[in-house]
Amino acid sequence: MTQAERRAALEAIAAEVRTCTRCRLADGRTNAVPGEGSPDTEVVLIGEGPGFNEDRLGRPFIGRAGDLLTKLLGSIEWRRDDVFITNVVKCRPPDNRDPEPDEVAACAPYLKRQLEVIDPALIVTLGRHSMGRFMPGARISQAHGTTGPVDPASGAQDATVFAMYHPAAALRGAEVERQSFEDIGLAPRVLLDARARRAAAPATTTRPADLVAPESPAAADPAAELAPVMALDADPRALDAADLTIF
Ligand code: SF4
Repeated sequence: MTQAERRAALEAIAAEVRTCTRCRLADGRTNAVPGEGSPDTEVVLIGEGPGFNEDRLGRPFIGRAGDLLTKLLGSIEWRRDDVFITNVVKCRPPDNRDPEPDEVAACAPYLKRQLEVIDPALIVTLGRHSMGRFMPGARISQAHGTTGPVDPASGAQDATVFAMYHPAAALRGAEVERQSFEDIGLAPRVLLDARARRAAAPATTTRPADLVAPESPAAADPAAELAPVMALDADPRALDAADLTIF
């Protein structure tokens, strides 16, 4: 899929989401929130669902939690525009309650299609509901800062999942905030490992990295491909991947 095709496919999904009435969350929304970011990214961040500000503006992770997410990304020199940010459910649950299982199920095809289009190397889950989609049975207090394989049935064919607390939880507690900055510090290394694992696997996609000429440095070293887009120097806090992986 070319860059233009990927962008068009994501916009087509977003257009469907904006007029979707598949579940009762359509009744109370001001705006559906399909998600936003780079269609060519290797990294997708997934939260639970839109809140008050997101519903008002139709954009994910704005307001105080969004500001903290931007700061978390900035701490590893990643920008919001470099990643794709979305939620498990695309419409705001009333009073910010947890989404019901039937609402999550109704909305799941949209997230699956987004992941199929983007084909990320890394999925960062924000909060326990998002984590539960990719690490069934895990507890956020134990799983944050750890990785696991992603079931291709999710739509992401060859991705690693990395669990983090939801930024809203970090706003409520200094210790969770501290942990969140520590966890995001591991993300560049996790991405490098995820990318290397994909490069070692039989080719299943036509992402730009796969199309790089063999003599290119980016082809010889998968770590080189994203360097112009994201700073990937391992954070000093980063552990060896063996210490953080729970495959
Ligand atoms: S939450 Fe998802 S399934 Fe429900 S109305 Fe919104 S877009 Fe449709």
